[in-house]
Amino acid sequence: MSRISAPTFAPRLVSVRDESPAVRTFRFASPPGFSFVPGQFVLFHFEDDPKTWRAYSICSSPACAPEWFEVTVGMVGPFSDRLGALTPGGEHGLAARGPFGRWTYDGSPEHAVLVAGGTGVAPLRAMILSKVDRALPGKITLVCSARVPSALLYRAEHDTWRRAGVTVHATVTRPESAPDERWDGPVGRIDAARLRRVVADFDRAVFYLCGPGRMIADLRAALAAEGVPPGRLRFESWGDYADLI
Ligand SMILES: Cc1cc2nc3c(=O)[nH]c(=O)nc-3n(C[C@H](O)[C@H](O)[C@H](O)COP(=O)(O)OP(=O)(O)OC[C@H]3O[C@@H](n4cnc5c(N)ncnc54)[C@H](O)[C@@H]3O)c2cc1C
Repeated sequence: MSRISAPTFAPRLVSVRDESPAVRTFRFASPPGFSFVPGQFVLFHFEDDPKTWRAYSICSSPACAPEWFEVTVGMVGPFSDRLGALTPGGEHGLAARGPFGRWTYDGSPEHAVLVAGGTGVAPLRAMILSKVDRALPGKITLVCSARVPSALLYRAEHDTWRRAGVTVHATVTRPESAPDERWDGPVGRIDAARLRRVVADFDRAVFYLCGPGRMIADLRAALAAEGVPPGRLRFESWGDYADLI
């Protein structure tokens, strides 16, 4: 599904919203004929620095792609900080290419278990919205984590997703670092024991993992040790960091 020869386009920024203190979602107008499969990403660069490209997963529904698409960006370094400062309407000199990527969800697994830490939940949102908007029959369980409750992305959408039949299990790893934030939900990291506990048909589900390299490596090893074969493990590793989970 990846378009290796995808042309470069100048994305018009339509709107920006805060997801958490250092994470923003950007809505861009789509170029003519734009479409994508959940799990795919776009590449961005600024015209005054054509060698620096960064990948951002599309987090919106494919149903909206003819008009617009969204990406959620954690501001963690020079490029993402620059992206984070963009405002609608202004000249921003941003260029984009895509969509790219073969780590995709097409609704076919009987039960897809989507697992992410921090901003890794962005492409999982596109997967969930594709199921919700198209009433796809496949079951989805989302297992996501963040350090503190206010860093759980898309939390305000969880109830809508639950009403649409998605099972949502959100866990907080460091609640003690935000004593003012109320949290009555699960606490602790995502590991194989947790997945076994919250996934009813663990031995048949297909696992989609997304996030920092260490988390993906640990989960792949742990799930393999639990008997999950490679064919039921689909992962997207974003690099070496551990700061948002
Ligand atoms: C296929 C793919 C899809 C991606 N999709 C997204 C996305 O949807 N949203 C998003 O925010 N990022 C995403 N990333 C990461 C993104 O491409 C950049 O690496 C990130 O924005 C950091 O770039 P920077 O220049 O700002 O900082 P850099 O100077 O390149 O990195 C600063 C530090 O932040 C770490 N880091 C990188 N990404 C993250 C992150 N997401 N959260 C916390 N720390 C991070 C780096 O490892 C490094 O330690 C994706 C990466 C890949 C490979």
